[in-house]
Amino acid sequence: MLKVLLFSLMAMAHSDHSAHNQSAHVHGAGKVSLAFDGKKGKLEFHAPAESIYGFEHAAKSKKDKQKKEAALSKLGEKISEMVVLDPALKCEIKLDMYEVIEKKNHSDVEGEFNISCEAPVAGSTITFSFQKVFPRLKKVQVEVLADQVQKSLEVGKNGETLELK
Ligand SMILES: [Zn+2]
Repeated sequence: MLKVLLFSLMAMAHSDHSAHNQSAHVHGAGKVSLAFDGKKGKLEFHAPAESIYGFEHAAKSKKDKQKKEAALSKLGEKISEMVVLDPALKCEIKLDMYEVIEKKNHSDVEGEFNISCEAPVAGSTITFSFQKVFPRLKKVQVEVLADQVQKSLEVGKNGETLELK
């Protein structure tokens, strides 16, 4: 059910600016989709690898491999500092999986997370602070669907909030 919700949410987001390339890859610009069905949710995170670990070539040297590993584990560990749900809801965001998609001259990082809360998320406020964890991530397009509420926000600085009402 959530997978379907998230999929239709992303399809809607795409059709909003259908003139643009759907897989536009702009350094510094990421995308986050959140879909909630009551107390449960899914989060999808997309960003150019450059914005996450600083380069996009294949990690061959030891130094590059370490940089990449460290940044990817940060994504899993610090997601709840970037996407801050109301503490009263007692939510937990857990990494489901991530992958690095290598294209011709660029690569993207994608992560999927499962969210479970003790109270429904619709009606609450979410705070976003992406640059706190990844300073190169200057702009993140956020799309949220929480039960009947659909909202979007372009996050350009730490502490921006979105009310799900
Ligand atoms: Zn790139």
